[in-house]
Amino acid sequence: MVRQKLIVIGILTMNLLGLTGCLPQGDSLHLTVKVQGQGQVEAPITQSLPRGTIVDLKALPAQGWTFSHWEGSVTDPASPDTTVLLDRQQTVTAIFVSKEKPQIHVAPGGLLSRRSDGSQVIKRNRGEADIQYIMLHAISDAAANPGNPYEVERVREIFREYAVEAHYLIDREGRIYQFVEDDCIARHAGVGTWNNEAKLTNAMNRYSIGIELMGIGTRAEMKNVIGPMANTLVNATDRGYTDEQYLALNALLRRLQGLYKIPAENIISHRAYDPGRKWDPGDLFAWEKVHAN
Ligand SMILES: [Zn+2]
Repeated sequence: MVRQKLIVIGILTMNLLGLTGCLPQGDSLHLTVKVQGQGQVEAPITQSLPRGTIVDLKALPAQGWTFSHWEGSVTDPASPDTTVLLDRQQTVTAIFVSKEKPQIHVAPGGLLSRRSDGSQVIKRNRGEADIQYIMLHAISDAAANPGNPYEVERVREIFREYAVEAHYLIDREGRIYQFVEDDCIARHAGVGTWNNEAKLTNAMNRYSIGIELMGIGTRAEMKNVIGPMANTLVNATDRGYTDEQYLALNALLRRLQGLYKIPAENIISHRAYDPGRKWDPGDLFAWEKVHAN
């Protein structure tokens, strides 16, 4: 077999670059190789290959990045050198994660200690030992400013208006801001239940870190949240989440998981905690792009 060395490169984005674009002919099959994060895949393949071919794959992280795992039907998802059996049309993705520690900025206006209503942001009962969960949220200014819903400077006011706050905010460009110290209780979860654990009922704030992604859900999700008028004025491109946000979220999750030994199954959505009232981060949030430890 003539081998043609092709290299797939992913740069910064979650851009998924395919190697092939043709339709299958006869008993030839295509392997589509994709990259998430920064790195390359050496895939010595021709455009199409006979059914049953075993293809070698090699994942090469870019500087400052590390190989995490493969997605798709590879022989060894954890190894950068692996193979895939082409018994059908296949898509495999090499996942690279940044080795860089996430840059965390102090929120505009500083960390919250005393709220505008005079109440104090207090420590968790057992400090950092109470941190066992991470809850993902969405926030935007779409109710008041549907045409310009992502001004970070507005977030503190939105928190004040709704008497809530979260520990972290990730803006549309993937910048991470901290509003509340990890060992303090933020009011982000509200009422709800999780996993039949009595201690978590209406008490998730004590046990969790809240992360707000600047984002807007589907029309159906937002109708009763921002009102039908604002909902019609939201730009379609402002709904959902950006690739930069997923990259930042993954870096932040890995940091928090490492610091507080939080297992991946303890990363939950606000909607999961309170499905009757909460939508976020919603149907447009791509859990498959979350690569927690
Ligand atoms: Zn929420």
